[in-house]
Amino acid sequence: MDKIIPPQCLGIMGGGQLARMFAIAAKQIGYKVAILEPDENCPAKLFANYHIVSKYDDKIGLDNLAKHSTVITTEFENAPAESMAYLEQKTLTFPKHTAIAVTQNRITEKTFFNSCGIKTTMFREINTLSDIAQINTDMFPAILKTNTLGYDGKGQVKVNDHAELEQAWETLSQVPSILEKMVALAHEVSIMVARSQNEISCYPVVENVHVNGILDITVAPAQISKGIAEYIEQAAKTIIDKLDYIGILGIEFFITETGEILANEMAPRPHNSGHYTLDACMTSQFEQQVRAICNLKLGNTRLFTNAIMLNLLGDIWPENKTPPWDKILGKYDNIKLHLYDKAEARPGRKMGHLTVLGDDISILYAQINEIKLLLGLN
Ligand code: ADP
Ligand code: MG
Repeated sequence: MDKIIPPQCLGIMGGGQLARMFAIAAKQIGYKVAILEPDENCPAKLFANYHIVSKYDDKIGLDNLAKHSTVITTEFENAPAESMAYLEQKTLTFPKHTAIAVTQNRITEKTFFNSCGIKTTMFREINTLSDIAQINTDMFPAILKTNTLGYDGKGQVKVNDHAELEQAWETLSQVPSILEKMVALAHEVSIMVARSQNEISCYPVVENVHVNGILDITVAPAQISKGIAEYIEQAAKTIIDKLDYIGILGIEFFITETGEILANEMAPRPHNSGHYTLDACMTSQFEQQVRAICNLKLGNTRLFTNAIMLNLLGDIWPENKTPPWDKILGKYDNIKLHLYDKAEARPGRKMGHLTVLGDDISILYAQINEIKLLLGLN
């Protein structure tokens, strides 16, 4: 494959914040950008040369995206597999729909991790009532999750016994689901890994804290042992290679209280926990996505400074009132604010993020806590 260079046009499925930050990275280098996104006022709009307003499975829209783009990628895992397969027939498209498909279903995803020799939580498929009856009591307490379309803790119910499991499955409309044994978590961590035709490159392992199922903060790098970090890096390289994946991939791991390292899930795109790379690394995860799909040399992933990223959800825009940015931007010289230009704030909606940078992680934690107070959080 030739190298794709500016001013060729890079296409992306979706127009949300991940497409926006991808477009900014691509345009900075000098590429043109085409997005396919039904929402006319989407976050990526301002940075797209071409905005194809179309459903994700509309052939005319897909043809139009392919016509403009030398190479196409995606900002979300639920781009219909058929659409991605269709685009592959028309132009270069990465990652391949076969790799994306593995990440779209929690059963295939965990089975794949296991096939790479990487452990996961114990899990069982739940497709019928008799599957429930056959669950051994040692699986409880457990979490029932829909196999597909779950995110930010949605489509998940905790259960303690068979009766609760039956009830929970009904709550999830009896769709095909996965039952996972609960594990006691010491840390939740993730890693971004990229692969081009010739190379694989990892970012540092980072630690994530979730609130109400949504990512709250990411600490870079994770405060874990060198041995664990090296194991996770190696696992990420094995996963991306075996998936024959081109692009950027986010992988979440659990580290349990007993020291087990379990792969949880992966996202075939830039990941919320990789946003710190915009400000703290030599190459951002979005530039890395560009480099990977354009068959350029992968960028250096060195972390210049420690960082903590805080997600900014719609909850801090009560009645769409602007948060007190003056108090934050007027106070700190080490903070980077990123707002996604979403017109309407709703509770739980990702509106932006900010990152604080510096050597001393305990100072960064203290700053994040101060900033949370200023924003009316905690
Ligand atoms: P999502 O797609 O919503 O991010 P996850 O599988 O990552 O789904 O689950 C969301 C969160 O729920 C995890 O980040 C973790 O905090 C918790 N969780 C999920 N599965 C387990 C488990 N088996 N044991 C303990 N906690 C879990
Ligand atoms: Mg998750």
